[in-house]
Amino acid sequence: MNLFTSDIDWAPEAVIADTIELFNKYNVKCTFFCTHQSAVIDSIKQDKNFELAVHPNFIPLMNQQKGTINEVIEKVLEIVPNAKGVRSHSLVQSTPLFQVFKDFGFQYEANTNLPYKNEITPYKLWNGLVKVLHNFEDDVHFMYKYPFNDTKINTFTNPLNVFSMHPIHIYLNTDTEQTYNNARTHYQNAEELLKHRNTKTPGTRDMLINLLENHHSTFKASQTVFEYLKAENFI
Ligand SMILES: [Zn+2]
Repeated sequence: MNLFTSDIDWAPEAVIADTIELFNKYNVKCTFFCTHQSAVIDSIKQDKNFELAVHPNFIPLMNQQKGTINEVIEKVLEIVPNAKGVRSHSLVQSTPLFQVFKDFGFQYEANTNLPYKNEITPYKLWNGLVKVLHNFEDDVHFMYKYPFNDTKINTFTNPLNVFSMHPIHIYLNTDTEQTYNNARTHYQNAEELLKHRNTKTPGTRDMLINLLENHHSTFKASQTVFEYLKAENFI
């Protein structure tokens, strides 16, 4: 099974909507880790094609800005009060944090990237929280300077692959760190971002479309992370 996840990372509405449209076009499910209030996200709250989870940002706390771990989590839970899953921005994790996640009622956390590993079976932590690993992440792929015509994982034969792709990189069709850096100052301006979309070499968008086009010929079903964990009796 291939599962798709996407960290919203404060993307503007048109950029989020663009990613949703792609998943709808190919009728493939996706789990979104949400960062902020968004009308576009609100509009898919009842949509069975999408799971809404949360994406708390603990980085400001590490930079000694004021606030607490609980406050950061409470803030993202205002967006998705019934979220089952959590993935921290920048994948921040720790043993005590896993207990905080459990105490808040989350059933899984998805903070571990094992790039290109073919074996990423989820597992239960000591407290019952399920750890979901991912073996592809778009920004990590371009930091490795790998081309986007190859996921470097067995997308057809692995029992499980978990993709992490960001709406901003799908929108920009990011192929290199340079493409992203050139567009970054326009992060909140979808019109300007579009002018920086990569059209020269295969990028994140091309890779995602390719995966979505082939999904139903390879897998009978399409599942969100939570649906997969339930179906496979991890939770
Ligand atoms: Zn993030």
